[in-house]
Amino acid sequence: KGDSRDYDREVKSVCPYCGVGCQISYKVKDDRIAWVDGINGPANEGRLCVKGRFGFDYITHPHRLTKPLIRRKDAPEKGLNVDPANPWTHFREASWEEALEVAAHGLSDLRSYYGGKAVAGFGSAKCSNEEAYLFQKLIRQGFGHNNVDHCTRLCHASSVAALMENVGSGAVTATFNEIENADIAIVIGSNPIENHPVAATYFKQFAKRGGKLVLMDPRGMGLKRHAWRSLQFKPGTDVAMLNAIMNVIVEEKLYDRQYIEGFTEGFFEFRDHIRAFPPERMAELCGVPAETLREVAREFARARAGMIFWGMGISQHIHGTDNSRCLISLALLCGHVGRPGTGLHPLRGQNNVQGASDAGLIPMMLPDYQLVAEADNRELFKHIWKGTEIDAKPGLTVVEIMDAMYRGEIRGMYILGENPAMSDPDVEHARNAMAKLEHLVVQDVFLTETANYADVILPASAWAEKTGTATNTNRQVQMGRPAVSPPGEAREDWRIIVALARKLGLDWDYDHPREVFSEMKMSMRSLHHITWERLEREGAVTYPCLGPEDPGQAVVFGDGFPRRAGRAKFTPARVTPPAEIPDANFPMILTTGRQLEHWHTGSMTRRASVLDAVEPEANASMHPRTLAKLGIAPGDMFRITTRRGAIEIMARADRAVSEDMVFVPFAYVEASANVLTNPQLDPFGKIPEFKFSACRVERIEGA
Ligand code: SF4
Repeated sequence: KGDSRDYDREVKSVCPYCGVGCQISYKVKDDRIAWVDGINGPANEGRLCVKGRFGFDYITHPHRLTKPLIRRKDAPEKGLNVDPANPWTHFREASWEEALEVAAHGLSDLRSYYGGKAVAGFGSAKCSNEEAYLFQKLIRQGFGHNNVDHCTRLCHASSVAALMENVGSGAVTATFNEIENADIAIVIGSNPIENHPVAATYFKQFAKRGGKLVLMDPRGMGLKRHAWRSLQFKPGTDVAMLNAIMNVIVEEKLYDRQYIEGFTEGFFEFRDHIRAFPPERMAELCGVPAETLREVAREFARARAGMIFWGMGISQHIHGTDNSRCLISLALLCGHVGRPGTGLHPLRGQNNVQGASDAGLIPMMLPDYQLVAEADNRELFKHIWKGTEIDAKPGLTVVEIMDAMYRGEIRGMYILGENPAMSDPDVEHARNAMAKLEHLVVQDVFLTETANYADVILPASAWAEKTGTATNTNRQVQMGRPAVSPPGEAREDWRIIVALARKLGLDWDYDHPREVFSEMKMSMRSLHHITWERLEREGAVTYPCLGPEDPGQAVVFGDGFPRRAGRAKFTPARVTPPAEIPDANFPMILTTGRQLEHWHTGSMTRRASVLDAVEPEANASMHPRTLAKLGIAPGDMFRITTRRGAIEIMARADRAVSEDMVFVPFAYVEASANVLTNPQLDPFGKIPEFKFSACRVERIEGA
């Protein structure tokens, strides 16, 4: 890092990693990013974490794809056997014209022969809003169905399902920065110090000012020393614990009667249901003393203003939607929605997972969560998309698409920026499914594990190389600007999608993301009063936005909900055990997640020099007592086995992990955590149970 003499120009943009959406300034010298600073964005106020500050040089890594590639006719079998530094036994370079021809012909041949449903698409939350919109439009318009999804299915789909059902909107009801106006905040199933580090700084400040921070997680976490209470409950018992807390509020009549009467429905049925969960009965099941449950319930209910934050520890379960229903009911019971310092906030994962979902990159909804099943919505898009008939049937979700590929029903895929060969549950099944595809087009910045199975690879742009908007966890739509050009012949993703759409016969004539944004505004009420020019000028506007000068609403639903009669709903949640219960063969619990330094499947951060230097090797964490019992020393290699497969990985000691559990990050291809994970789905959100698999852990003799 240097001073103003050390760079030629400064470009303001947004961090490409997590959903916090920190605004950054690229300092560019000789057409290379020299360093990155945090700037005064609404979500970060100048702060950055290690990824935002140091995770930028992956874009100049020698593995960058700089030319289109086509699979050689004499290539070996598809699989994880391509060296990204030397892919020439499998692929040959091609011109853009040839690559787009081959990509489009392969997909359109399948469409002609088997029908549009033979082809599906995975878009990406790493792309801009405009790219997400174009991608879902290409699948819906070009292939006539809704089999298009992205990684929201693997992170917060169950949260969105519960929020849509009970609140009428899938986004947060308050920004995380609102915590400064709260008296109490619950953080459950989330480890913000590692996953949303800049948001975590606001949580720490809140606690320092005397706010009551309540942590609830089976894994202890870095925020623990700032917490007023920390409830390390048994994995999978979220509903039992939350119902017990709400039982106290109901039985002791601590609920906000006026709020419930004015703004909700379903309270009496809910009250009757919740009476079956007294803390004394639930305490042993969830591993938290009844008195602690009572204490937390009383404080949360009596507080003037309370917030609830949650992460994938809540959503990635077969009962993820029920977990979120409980959190919504808890906030409604206490009237902790719609006022300063109150709200429901699922901390979104990727930098644009909120925006990609808003833009319709989901199989059951058109942009702005307009259900495909409703005729009026289809008519609106038929009008905007020049007569396109929209299929009324909701499409398949990520894991369902994989299963359909495996069965041979889906024969072609267009995958943009996602890496299901690493990120899907039971990943060997996903890899085998991709190997069966007759035609796979992958668009990415690196030859990812998924690109190993491709027929055509289209070299795309990194976030620092493109223009486009992204929407963070706070509903803040922000402008991303290009700091440098894509290397070689790599192109901005929106240009590639448009070129491919034209080859597929679609009459598209976009020349700039600004034009796509204008089209999005025709169907998306969430973008009212947000214009491209405003975003260029102001950098960020929060939706909903009430006027051309309004910065947007940090807190929503103070005067009612976007549901029938303006009322939110209580939905009772039953206790459902995890899909796999530990037994004699598989006595421990496997849980997976991210690390501070590594991002998702590692394709970017493992090629970022600082991040890779800090965290270079695959590792899995267990409690020191568990390691001692198993005869494993920190640094030893050991084996983890589930009903799906086994991996060998290095041991790390971590007192935060409970003694019956092993935590494995999913960024490492040499020890893919998802070889182990359970693909069982939540029935509502269709999200897999990444957070709970029964496993066996063994020392490797001689290791
Ligand atoms: Fe980037 Fe998230 Fe870190 Fe902010 S907190 S710098 S958005 S990774």
